[in-house]
Amino acid sequence: MKFRRTVSLITALVIVAGTALMCSGVIGAPASADSLQDQINAKQDKVNDLEKKIAALEKEGKELLSQISLIEEQTDEIEEQIDLTNDRIKELKIAIEEQTENIAEAEEDIAVRNAQMAERIRAIYMSGSDSYLNMLFESKDFGSFLDTLDVVKILVSADKDMVEEFKNAKSDYESVKASLESDKQEMDTLKADLVTQRNKLESNATKLEKLKDQNDKQRAAAQKEMDKEYEAIKELIRQQSQGEFVGGDFMWPVAGFNKKSNISAYFGQTGKYWKKAHTGMDIAGRNAAGDGIKGKPILACNSGTVIKVNETSGGYGQYVVISHGGGISTLYGHMISGSPTVSEGDTVVKGQVIGKVGETGNASGPHLHLEFIVNGERVDPLRYVSYIK
Ligand SMILES: [Zn+2]
Repeated sequence: MKFRRTVSLITALVIVAGTALMCSGVIGAPASADSLQDQINAKQDKVNDLEKKIAALEKEGKELLSQISLIEEQTDEIEEQIDLTNDRIKELKIAIEEQTENIAEAEEDIAVRNAQMAERIRAIYMSGSDSYLNMLFESKDFGSFLDTLDVVKILVSADKDMVEEFKNAKSDYESVKASLESDKQEMDTLKADLVTQRNKLESNATKLEKLKDQNDKQRAAAQKEMDKEYEAIKELIRQQSQGEFVGGDFMWPVAGFNKKSNISAYFGQTGKYWKKAHTGMDIAGRNAAGDGIKGKPILACNSGTVIKVNETSGGYGQYVVISHGGGISTLYGHMISGSPTVSEGDTVVKGQVIGKVGETGNASGPHLHLEFIVNGERVDPLRYVSYIK
């Protein structure tokens, strides 16, 4: 088998490319006794496992991030509530201080009045009979003496009323103060609860951030390992690519659709359809007669061996890969499902019909996705085929 080595190469290439680029379909390698191929298959299995692992880690990482941001939102809300509670506590403290001052003032007033009253009463008793006698003698008559005595009594009674009033005021202040203090106690309790909640959230966030860090590290490690495997696969493929090139030029694969205007997307182009750069060249549109490309025959760009006929739900859809030797292969994607007229292992000649243009897989309309894979790398098909200007 002239192309046997190349067959293995391309199979592996498609696998490698499919994982990294536009097509996500992973193609199983055909059974082969070739030990290099076995190694590639084993490595590919490992790559597939790593891909799954990375995807799972990515999902987990996203979940962790959303949990962290949720906790941050909750923490912000609680912080806001704590601020409000602090403001309220401050207000209450000021109000309580006011009441404390009021109470002190009332106490002072009471003390002053009490002292005055005591002074008056003392005056009445201390002055004793002499004083009353003096008052009696100094009074014009007995009647005015009694009047003077009444005035003192009235004054004492007024003092007593005043003290009573101050005492009432003080008791009012005290009850207001007690109510404020109970409000404040409530606020203090609320604040303590909020602080507990916040601390809990913060410690949860810290735990989640640690998990996220771990997740990042695991993902980076898996990615590094996968890159290493990719490189190893590429090297094995390079070792395999010893087949001889069939020779000759490559031809445009859809007759009549070979104008510049028939290229709907170039190699390396970026845009909404391609995660990275476009891995091939898209041929679409109409021919000179105005016919659409859908259903038009696809021709082998050069002679070679069919190394893959497959269909995936995404990616290339129905596709065919032909090896032309010399490490060069061509891939034809988005064919009509079941349209390939060739099977794996078939030898084809340049210009032979291999299937029909369709829009299976990841296609936004009928077109042929043409790829040139050379020694493990996708290259611009326009290096090998050319359109009519
Ligand atoms: Zn394409």
